[in-house]
Amino acid sequence: KKVNVAIDGPAGAGKSTVAKMAAEKLGFIYIDTGAMYRAVTWKALNNHVDPRDDQSLETLLKHTEIQLTQKNGSPRVICDGQDVTEQIRDPSVTRNVSFTASHRNIREDLVRRQQQLAAKGGTVMDGRDIGTAVLPDAEVKVFLTASVNERARRRYDEQVAKGIPTDIDELKQEIENRDKLDTEREVTPLKQAEDAVYLDSTKLSIEEVVKQIYQLAVK
Ligand code: C5P
Repeated sequence: KKVNVAIDGPAGAGKSTVAKMAAEKLGFIYIDTGAMYRAVTWKALNNHVDPRDDQSLETLLKHTEIQLTQKNGSPRVICDGQDVTEQIRDPSVTRNVSFTASHRNIREDLVRRQQQLAAKGGTVMDGRDIGTAVLPDAEVKVFLTASVNERARRRYDEQVAKGIPTDIDELKQEIENRDKLDTEREVTPLKQAEDAVYLDSTKLSIEEVVKQIYQLAVK
């Protein structure tokens, strides 16, 4: 059986970038669990459902299909048959997603879906609770972080590259807010698993981080 690789860490640490590259290098499937929380949040906002209302969200989620696929080598997120890859990165979704992710019932549903996706091994899964709750038996666990200034700077560069006007202090504030909600929530908060390898990428290149993860997985 192929191994699973769990990558957790705070917002903007570069998890999705390195997870995707490590998956390619290993011939594994990349699973972005944050995209699943984002897709539910996007659908809720579109249907005038308040992401703070766990009961309405639960009903909504029961009738929601989320698929993580690939198109021309880049990951796509399909919600009820609609490609929402771009929509789920909207600032309104980013501002609300941690409310969606705070509810026990919502997490139970999505965690079950994530466990099914990894049942056969051969995945690189990134999120906040993968090593602690989704795949506690994952053979490889990494806790990836970087200083908040560096994380804000990377987000800023990404936005500028996309031609989106951005304020770096606002980005830093948004990252700090989300980290606070994610680490202080009651249900499976963002936390390093005891058996996870701690990687501070502040002074590491993407390639160096990918190489370290790859080596852990093929060992
Ligand atoms: O990874 P990304 O930044 O897209 O995740 C968006 C949000 O989804 C996080 O801030 C967190 O609130 C939630 N999340 C979570 N557990 C995961 C993945 C994401 O609570 N495994």
